[in-house]
Amino acid sequence: MDVSLFEEAYGGELATKIVRGFCRRPVTLRVNRIKSTAESLMEEFRRVGISFERVPWYEDAFVLLNATEEDIRETAAYREGRVYLQSLSSMLPPLLLNAKPNDDVLDMTAAPGGKTTEICALTGNAALVTACERDSIRFERMKFNFARQGARVNAMKTDALALDEMFSFDKILLDAPCSGSGTLQNPNARLERSFVGKCAIRQEKLLKKGLKLLKRGGILVYSTCSVLPAENGEVVLKVSKETGAELVPLDFPSNFDARLLPSPEHTACILPDEKFEGFFLAKLQKF
Ligand code: SAM
Repeated sequence: MDVSLFEEAYGGELATKIVRGFCRRPVTLRVNRIKSTAESLMEEFRRVGISFERVPWYEDAFVLLNATEEDIRETAAYREGRVYLQSLSSMLPPLLLNAKPNDDVLDMTAAPGGKTTEICALTGNAALVTACERDSIRFERMKFNFARQGARVNAMKTDALALDEMFSFDKILLDAPCSGSGTLQNPNARLERSFVGKCAIRQEKLLKKGLKLLKRGGILVYSTCSVLPAENGEVVLKVSKETGAELVPLDFPSNFDARLLPSPEHTACILPDEKFEGFFLAKLQKF
């Protein structure tokens, strides 16, 4: 694997830790509160012989000890939308967004919809959630997932950059398209500098657009599954400086146990390891 971008960002020792963290992780999933509860899912798993561990910082999350994703796809719980396969890191943005019933919420780049359905579950389907996706195939997949999960969402097949600025939202999630540098699996993976640069330009545009669509006082959570500062801290600091939106503290759930890479104040970059994917999170407030 080409580690030069990690070395440039963090030095050799942390770059080695990042690469070591690109290991196979156990399957993780989230119980869908709209259709089930952790208790009844545990019973269901025990009945079919699936062993699991709970996650100390999120009652809806499960780590499976003896099942593959394929095994889970064959269960009734999966087919009937009582669970959603999701990495632990990617469960964090909706928790930090902390949407409430009746909030106007936008998920700007939403397919296949894991985080949108989590927002719906966390708000008891009572927030007014809009999800945008510009890719047709991914949009169809997302709509299928919303239906299966029983998530009430206004799905829009559109480029988020083209959204009419007459709309405004209390809470916005920008889980931005990125290089995926926090989730590399292939030992021959190469991260092209030019590709990372293109991602950063797109992320900056999307973040500025998101802030335009945000109500005053509103909160925008920015996340990527990249560990590269060019797509993360550098993007949010630049946009914060240009727009006046402020980075605000990240209120992680208690018992949150990921290890973090160095990153600017009020941002977090999760070191990939045997539990977590590499991931970046920041929260901005518009005044
Ligand atoms: N949040 C999603 C989830 O948890 O399931 C994953 C989102 S993925 C990181 C980014 C998505 O953004 C991709 O599906 C991509 O097609 C979409 N996308 C990229 N640029 C976009 C744009 N300008 N407008 C809308 N969607 C966009």
